[in-house]
Amino acid sequence: MMIPMNKFHRLMHVDVPRWLLKQNLQAPFFSQAHYLSSGTVAKSSSVPRICVVGSGPAGFYTAQQLIKGHPELEVDIYEKLPVPFGLVRYGVAPDHPEVKNVINTFTKTAQNPRCSFIGNVCIGKDIHVKNLLQVYTAVVLAYGADKEKLLGIKGENLKGVYSAREFVAWYNGHPDHVDLPVNLDGQTALVFGQGNVAIDVARMLLKSPDMLKETDITPAALNVLEKSQVKNVTLLGRRGPMEAAFTIAEFREMTKLPSVHTDLLESDFSEIAKIVDSIRPPRKRLMSLMCKIAGMPNSDGSCREFRLRFCRSPVEILPSENDQEHVGGVKVMLNKLIKHPSGKVTSEPTGVTEDIPCDLVFRSIGYGGQTIDEDIPFDLDRGVVKHERGRVHSMPGLYCSGWVKTGPVGVLVSTMNDSFDTGQTILQDLNDGILQPSEKHTGKEALLKQLGDKSTQIVDFDGWLKIDKAEISRSSDSYPSPRIKIVNVDQMLKIALT
Ligand SMILES: Cc1cc2nc3c(=O)[nH]c(=O)nc-3n(C[C@H](O)[C@H](O)[C@H](O)COP(=O)(O)OP(=O)(O)OC[C@H]3O[C@@H](n4cnc5c(N)ncnc54)[C@H](O)[C@@H]3O)c2cc1C
Repeated sequence: MMIPMNKFHRLMHVDVPRWLLKQNLQAPFFSQAHYLSSGTVAKSSSVPRICVVGSGPAGFYTAQQLIKGHPELEVDIYEKLPVPFGLVRYGVAPDHPEVKNVINTFTKTAQNPRCSFIGNVCIGKDIHVKNLLQVYTAVVLAYGADKEKLLGIKGENLKGVYSAREFVAWYNGHPDHVDLPVNLDGQTALVFGQGNVAIDVARMLLKSPDMLKETDITPAALNVLEKSQVKNVTLLGRRGPMEAAFTIAEFREMTKLPSVHTDLLESDFSEIAKIVDSIRPPRKRLMSLMCKIAGMPNSDGSCREFRLRFCRSPVEILPSENDQEHVGGVKVMLNKLIKHPSGKVTSEPTGVTEDIPCDLVFRSIGYGGQTIDEDIPFDLDRGVVKHERGRVHSMPGLYCSGWVKTGPVGVLVSTMNDSFDTGQTILQDLNDGILQPSEKHTGKEALLKQLGDKSTQIVDFDGWLKIDKAEISRSSDSYPSPRIKIVNVDQMLKIALT
């Protein structure tokens, strides 16, 4: 009988290369394990049935890894919306269509006969996690982090103050946010935050709407942007240029926008310019580019301006003199930077404040995680599920991947790597007998019946493909967008279920 390499490795205390250990988790090993009737590797004759909660990148990448690593395992992906793909559909900017190509890979996974998409089912509301754990061998929480984060300062409720999260969801046609009353009559916008989402917001506000016509932005959002009066967008950061969270590709794109001048103060970069050669990549490339641009005049007379300002924290959002219910400016605290022995740089208030007039404010200080079910051990401070290498604390059979595990940081590649890790952990636990497939693990069957009894309208992947087709067919020669998104859940259901 063959002993799997990872068990052999532990028995004999020998060093086995990581790649070889991983090989053991691939199809041939599991085929043997399944058909052997006795011995260390035979666990059960039942098929492992895994439930994934959330159909964003984390859900699909975890499912992909599980299906690839086990010849019989089945995955059911539950999604609260009738449509899949999470932030790839509702977060990634419309003018970055190449990023959305991952949808092709996710579609292949969804169309694997061992994978099912179960849309329009909200876990924690329609079904509880503890019920899922009864009928699945394992449950993976991959429901992202879409909670609003507030600045917690006076004036945050004034008109003209927007959440970047909602603004992004609005222009991308998320059913919960399409009705956001966006008014871009003002000329000057301030964005609190200096991450890639803040840059996305600035680019959407400053880019010529003509350049957005051939994207999947909603017609309603395009219409508002066409009437926009916004001329200046300033991104404010608490710390210095070295700590800005955006990446070089996103910043460089801003510097190349037609009719938009990038305004950086030379004084913010004079010290960095002296040490730029010694900065480690990839930061070095970003700093070199910023140092090169700093202080450049608007020599070609660009009519719009993109500014970065540093070492400023929000203190209060001030009402306009003409309309006390509308934003008219912000009060910010000037900070100084403190470099710690660990290399970490923090900001400290100087006690000096500054008032900056503006017509619009966007809060782009990150997304927050939240629990969807009281049974889930959740770290409220960090906004993540409590876990150890993807295994949720004190909940055998429960796992997590993606932003609900890591917090809302990183890009698709980091989410992919993290989800593959969780997939490997589950395969390992199946291999080690920590997870035992059983006759009780009937998967979706019983649940779908229960949901049907409650008249929940379930959308399968074919249902999504009907919505997809309908969206694509709505574009025309006069509106040459790749798709016109359906933004209403009832309409989605009508198309998917007929
Ligand atoms: C505005 C924005 C732009 C971005 N742009 C880029 C980019 O250009 N390039 C890049 O590489 N990365 C980008 N990212 C990062 C990327 O989107 C994330 O890395 C990735 O989406 C995280 O995946 P996730 O599956 O953890 O979360 P999500 O994508 O949020 O997916 C979670 C899914 O779970 C579903 N869900 C939530 N609650 C429930 C529930 N109770 N029951 C069932 N389903 C539920 C949600 O509807 C959603 O479909 C961007 C992120 C944001 C916020």
